[in-house]
Amino acid sequence: MTRSATARITRVRATPQVRAPREKLSGATRGERNCSVARTLDIVSDAWAFLIIREAFFEAKTFGAFRSALDIPRATLTDRLRKLTRLQIFRQVAADSGQRKQYRLTRMGFDLYPSFISLMQFGDRWLAGEKNPPLVLVHRSCGCESHPVVACSECASELEARGVQYRDGPGAGRKPAKPGRNTRRASDGSRFMLGRPSSVSRALEIIGDKWSFMVVREGFFGNRRYDYIQSELGIAPNILTDRLSRLVAQGIFHRRLYQSAPERYEYLLTEMGRDLYRPFITMLAWGDRWLAKGKPPLLLRHTKCGHDFHASVICDKCHKPVIAADMQYRLNYDPRDYGALGPRSIT
Ligand SMILES: [Zn+2]
Ligand SMILES: [Zn+2]
Repeated sequence: MTRSATARITRVRATPQVRAPREKLSGATRGERNCSVARTLDIVSDAWAFLIIREAFFEAKTFGAFRSALDIPRATLTDRLRKLTRLQIFRQVAADSGQRKQYRLTRMGFDLYPSFISLMQFGDRWLAGEKNPPLVLVHRSCGCESHPVVACSECASELEARGVQYRDGPGAGRKPAKPGRNTRRASDGSRFMLGRPSSVSRALEIIGDKWSFMVVREGFFGNRRYDYIQSELGIAPNILTDRLSRLVAQGIFHRRLYQSAPERYEYLLTEMGRDLYRPFITMLAWGDRWLAKGKPPLLLRHTKCGHDFHASVICDKCHKPVIAADMQYRLNYDPRDYGALGPRSIT
């Protein structure tokens, strides 16, 4: 039995004791809370977009390189590269004569690296099954095999969901929910397993859909009940029902009966679900940095050190923040099976 299956059965604990500022329910849908994670997910919850960015971390720069690494349909790749360039994740570098046009990550794009690492670690921990994680990271700065941790920017200790308090920041507020937006589930997750084995792909099979991740966010805020979640997200009931049942099947939530006539359930994050906290907080930090225009919707306080903080992904050996340029990879699988190249580094 896989580790995640075991966890589903035996290791369910209560949701973390954190609360988002919660307003009174007014009955009607009140629109979507301003949220840096939601803004980030608008960009990266498209699993293809995220995988294209991943390949850029692996040094892919041309249309052909992305296409052969991902086995992605041509029209889809064209569309995503255009979109990511418009969003300033990539910049196009003009082709010299005879050379192909290149797509290079911008600073904003490179800064997604910690989110990529935290998703990869989630995938390694819960979704790699009995196999070894596909990639081993070597940190150039210290020369060590690195297992980066998501840490508090102020005290450098590792962050956990239950150790963080939230309050409204200068960018707090709501925007009207747009019906129909993001209602479509990302296409069949198994498509993203094509190409190289990747813990990020595996993680995106679960959260490569914005609503799924927003439902998990409500779990971090301590919202366990259907009505609250629905009201917080301004999500259509049929979509919420669908996402909750998927997340239960995937081992992210555990359902608990809290009322019997009529039957009502609340949804508690499992240990696996709580482990999505690190990708969550890392994406939140990215959204605050690049999309919040200096006005973060939420301020975070680390209970342990008592300081307002942002999430920082640091090497577990030397405690320096990890950046893409300092990481080398060792493949933990035979690349000949996947047509990938040998060990490479990012320069
Ligand atoms: Zn701290
Ligand atoms: Zn290091």
